[in-house]
Amino acid sequence: MASDTAHPAVFAVGWRALLALGLALATAYLLAATQYYATILVLAALMLAFSFGAARRRLQARGAADSIAANRTIARLQSEQKRAAQAQDHLQALLDTVSAALLVVTEDGRIESTNRAAQLLTGGNAPRLSDIAAIGPEAATAILNIAPGTPGLVRLADGRLELVSAGRFAGGGEASRLISLQAVVGELDAVQLKAWEDMSRVLTHEIMNSLTPIASLSESLSGMIRQDGASPESIAAADTIARRSQGLAGFVARYRQMAEMPEPRRQSVSLAVFTREIRGLMQDRLNGIAYREQVDDISLAADPDLLSQAVINLLRNAADAVAGTDNPAITLACTREEDAVVISISDNGKGVPAEHRDDIFVPFFTTKRDGSGIGLGLVRQIALKHGGRVEVEAAADGGATFRLVLPEQ
Ligand code: ADP
Repeated sequence: MASDTAHPAVFAVGWRALLALGLALATAYLLAATQYYATILVLAALMLAFSFGAARRRLQARGAADSIAANRTIARLQSEQKRAAQAQDHLQALLDTVSAALLVVTEDGRIESTNRAAQLLTGGNAPRLSDIAAIGPEAATAILNIAPGTPGLVRLADGRLELVSAGRFAGGGEASRLISLQAVVGELDAVQLKAWEDMSRVLTHEIMNSLTPIASLSESLSGMIRQDGASPESIAAADTIARRSQGLAGFVARYRQMAEMPEPRRQSVSLAVFTREIRGLMQDRLNGIAYREQVDDISLAADPDLLSQAVINLLRNAADAVAGTDNPAITLACTREEDAVVISISDNGKGVPAEHRDDIFVPFFTTKRDGSGIGLGLVRQIALKHGGRVEVEAAADGGATFRLVLPEQ
């Protein structure tokens, strides 16, 4: 295509140059041999005109050749750019499928690029690691101090525990780090839970074997000594033993409840219907509390009995937390986030102190005088059995928000 345009231009330059040369020779001859000055003048003018034409054409021809070469280079550059952009899109799409948050960060903590999971974490365009509210300055420093090749656990400002790995590389001359943040809560919970289940099974078996005869014998003993006219002190002592052993048996039975949780029998649960039923069941407990529901029209595959046990436990805790507060309020929200369904219960109570955040899901941890400490342990177990998790965060108005994050299917 380029040569088609080049040939006529070169030909045009050729015949003009030849004509100018012929005219120059004729002018020289007439100048030397005759005195036809008018003719010489005309010939000289023609020669100059043809010379300029030839020169202009030559320049145009060169310009055309140059612009063809430039066009070719531009086309090549454009196709290179397109290929590079496609490769980058492909890489970005690949990085976006990774569930870990990936961030390229300069040594002083400036964020250079992120994948989708990291954008969800940063919630937009945070310029520095420490500016991300969910991470916070303290965790940002800990993350930047993770040595390449030696992953470490870091607790973020929002309470999430993350496994942080770092790698160093020099991008564009400036030393940068590739940081990966991976939520470990699910995996750690599963391991911890298995240990609890194993221990609970052994303990409940051993304790129940000894406790059942003690409870029934002490009850009979109390009846027998009453008939025999024993002293009030002896009767009171026998009654105490009977009462305490029954209490202990009840405690162990609850322990067993955790150890022997059935596998979920999943079915499609409409959250609108589900929350209406929960509201009915919790009516008395929620009396005097401003109870709001924000329920999207979602269904999920879950065991309705286990799920209602989890939500009731969370609502009971929320009701305990708002007892004694002015304008007590609880909100139950059901929304879809990504490919998960989130059931969250927020209250405006006293919130969970930072020092208790790691403990509240541990079975039998309680700060209540008559608490059993198994409510949240059960919620966590139910969430894990459904392939989900439970999280706690500070609610907007200072209380606590518990989030049950469950897969939709
Ligand atoms: P229990 O309610 O018997 O104490 P749980 O396992 O349900 O057992 O809860 C453990 C602890 O977690 C509670 O004792 C309390 O300290 C804390 N907690 C649970 N829910 C809330 C809440 N909504 N607000 C503040 N603290 C809470």
